[in-house]
Amino acid sequence: MSVRSERFDRQIAIFGTEGQERIRAAKVVQVGYGGLGTFVLPQLCLLGVKTVSVIEHETFSETNRNRYFGFLHSDYEAEKGIGIDKVLVAERIAKGIDPEISIRLIRNRLESREAFEAVIRADIVIGCLDSDGARAILNELCVAYGITYIDLASEVFDDGTFGGRVAVVKNGDGCLQCMGDGLDQTEIRRYLADEQQLENEAKVYGVDKRILAAGSGPSVVDLNGIIASLGVQEFKLLLTSPRLQSRYLNYRGHLKTISKVEVRPAGDCYCCGLFQKEDEADVWRYLTA
Ligand SMILES: [Zn+2]
Repeated sequence: MSVRSERFDRQIAIFGTEGQERIRAAKVVQVGYGGLGTFVLPQLCLLGVKTVSVIEHETFSETNRNRYFGFLHSDYEAEKGIGIDKVLVAERIAKGIDPEISIRLIRNRLESREAFEAVIRADIVIGCLDSDGARAILNELCVAYGITYIDLASEVFDDGTFGGRVAVVKNGDGCLQCMGDGLDQTEIRRYLADEQQLENEAKVYGVDKRILAAGSGPSVVDLNGIIASLGVQEFKLLLTSPRLQSRYLNYRGHLKTISKVEVRPAGDCYCCGLFQKEDEADVWRYLTA
């Protein structure tokens, strides 16, 4: 299909056929198809992305029902406790919007060879994760192989404040570890810990070890939708109007503000120092599958 078909006329009016062609040609990898990811993929397909891979190993469950866009009630059978593979819904949504889209489903963890190989072949990676542990790994992988990485995060805090941020990691001059608020090092350590280490820590705190696991925090549909759209907007600008694109946006929902955070040169960031070191960076040590 030519990019001059009427389908995209209303947005070609904004960024031109060249911009549309860049969106069409981009090889995109989306990591995570959950609260954020279910809002990101349909927007990519509507924009005209033609080649996308989705990395997600989980199945749909009862606690996902409050916020997953595009999932049907019948996608989880409560009596049997069986939910559909999330990647199958990704495919249903993408093909429903555009039957000609090439979507590759990677039903595997991020820390798998299959996922890593997809990431390092991408033009742009969009992270829709719910753990700073997974973010740290994806960040390091993208820096090491020089892949542009847009990371989305939504947050709800105990005191009722809420928001999120969009960070764009590229060119080796600023990554998730050194830009803005950085990453939660305790969460990273827990993510990389084995069962025994988690159990020991849970004993120290006198809590169930599931409480220490990532991805179980509060999460709500409207907030995910806002952060996802901000992320897709940066994706679009990166390809069509780079001059307007930002490196780090902070959304504070309770204050009703979005602010652009200036990114300073990375200086002594260990991770930025791995820029384009590829295999020498030994990111493959994270593989578990
Ligand atoms: Zn850095």
